[in-house]
Order: sequence, then C-alpha cells, then structure tokens
Amino acid sequence: AKHLGGNRICIYSSDLNDYAQDTIALETNLRLAIDRNELEVYYQPQVSLISSKVSGVEALVRWNHPHFGLTSPQVFIPLAEERGLIQAIGHFVLDSALQQLTLWDKDGMVIPKVAINVSALELKPGYVDAIQAALTKYQIRPSRLELEITESVLVSDGVETMQILEHLRGLGITIAVDDFGVGYSSLGQLRRLPIDALKVDKSFIDNIHNDAEDEAIVNAIVTMARALGLRTIAEGAETDQQLSSIEKLECDCVQGYVLGKPMSSTELSKWMNFNPV
Ligand code: C2E
Ligand code: CA
Ligand code: CA
Ligand code: CA
Repeated sequence: AKHLGGNRICIYSSDLNDYAQDTIALETNLRLAIDRNELEVYYQPQVSLISSKVSGVEALVRWNHPHFGLTSPQVFIPLAEERGLIQAIGHFVLDSALQQLTLWDKDGMVIPKVAINVSALELKPGYVDAIQAALTKYQIRPSRLELEITESVLVSDGVETMQILEHLRGLGITIAVDDFGVGYSSLGQLRRLPIDALKVDKSFIDNIHNDAEDEAIVNAIVTMARALGLRTIAEGAETDQQLSSIEKLECDCVQGYVLGKPMSSTELSKWMNFNPV
C-alpha cells in the first residue's frame, strides 16, 4: 500500500496488476471487436401502462468476446469512452438499431420506437449529421428514435450540448433523461432542458412497493413530469409488486425483467408473439 497523502491509500496488488493486464487486453480487443462482428445489439421492451402495448425498445450493446465471454457494457463502455472508441460503438448501435426497425416493420411487428444510449462524448458537432444520415439510409421517421442521455450530462454540459439536443429535437427525435433522480438536477434546470421523457432510476423502483418514501419520490416525479409535459418510464421493475405500484402511481411506461430482459432481435420477435400485450 502506498500513501498518496491525507488518508488516501492506493493499493498495488497482483490482482490489480492482473486487472491492468486484462484492461489492456480488453482495450486491444475492443478496437477489433466491431470488425470481427463481436458486438451485438440487444433489445429490451418498454410497455405503455396506458395501452398495455409495447411503446418501444431500448437498444443495449453486448460484446461477445471469444476469450472473455460476454463482457458487460458497464465494463467496456467506460473503457471505450476513455480510449476514443465510443463514437464507433455508438455508430454501430445506431445503425444496427435502425436497420432492425426496418426488418421488424417488414415482419409486421409493431415496435413504435427504439431508444439508444448516447455518451456525452458523442454529443459533438457532426453528431446531428450522422443521425440524420442513418435515418435517411433506413427511411426511418425521426419520431421513432429516442436518445437516452444521463441526467449528469444534461446538467453539467454547456451551451454546445444544449444546441445539439435542440437541433435533434427540431428534427422530431425525442430525448429521454436516463437514470433520472440520482443526478442532482434542480427543478428549475429541468424546465429549461430540451427533453421529452424521464426514466425513473431503478434505485427508486427497487423498494417502491414497501418503502413509503420511495413511493412518495416516484409520485412526485410523475406529478412534476406531467406538469412539464414529459413522459415517465420506470426502469428496472423486477416483480409484480413493483409493477402494480408503478401502475398505481401512473407512470406512463415500464421497463424491466418482470416484463422482459434485454434480448437478441430474434428472441424479441418470439417474445412479441408470446406477449400480445
Ligand atoms: P442503462 O442505460 O441504465 O440501462 C439499463 C441497464 O439495466 C441495462 O444493463 C439493463 O440490462 C439493466 N436492466 C433492465 N431491466 C432490469 C431489471 O429489471 N433488473 C436489473 N437488475 N437490471 C435491469 P446493461 O445492458 O448491462 O447496460 C448497462 C449500462 O451500459 C447502461 O445502463 C448504459 O449506461 C450502458 N450502455 C449499454 N449499451 C450502451 C450503448 O449502446 N451506448 C452507450 N453509450 N452506453 C450503453
Ligand atoms: Ca439507458
Ligand atoms: Ca438507466
Ligand atoms: Ca444506468
């Protein structure tokens, strides 16, 4: 253990070395992953509690590595951001998801929209053009694309980010605030943001059925969202109890294992056939 001053201690262990080695190997491989077709996009259904129909799907990237196996985006997305690979991954996900929408359309499957996760580093000049090009390529109406951006990005980023988001919304693309409630945005800020929906963070959903405070928080979020004309999506619902609390509080949409896990496009087609919700 090495003292860094104050009471901060940095521990060098062989484990950490292994981890560093793995990280380097992972990074090298990540550069090749796209070309090697190791990335795949999974889709998780979002269901409207008003119509009981699928309102959309969230695209979630997966990396199936021949050595490391299925690597979590929680591990490789931060690495990709650090190493300047996130733009390539983001483009892959966007292209795959829009192409998939056209395939579902051809199959007569009703998937009204697809939501993709956007990293702060992607919100640069040129991003609007890239999105527009992909929509044109697959002839997808902009209103069928939702971009999920975390609350912290929306709150901390400056004028340039806001202008890009406003431009995207001007095209008809919708913006959802991801992980809402944990990013400390003030209510005043929220009113001014160019957004369309709030995704209520899973941490508020976990105990919504048996914790009066969490229930009160979600109730307040939904009430405020409605007053501001924003849709609400409850994230990470795993049980029927949570689901009925979410329904009672009148969230617009719900997403979580209780309805369906993220799945391959083929699995989603089957899920749609067995869940004519
Ligand atoms: P996120 O955007 O908050 O996505 C929700 C995560 O919660 C997903 O994890 C999803 O599989 C998981 N989840 C959904 N329902 C439930 C549930 O009922 N219970 C539990 N325990 N988990 C649930 P995943 O797919 O591992 O993704 C993790 C994170 O990686 C995402 O969090 C997102 O921040 C990031 N990510 C994933 N795909 C992309 C991408 O294409 N681009 C970028 N920039 N980030 C991505
Ligand atoms: Ca998300
Ligand atoms: Ca989220
Ligand atoms: Ca998250």
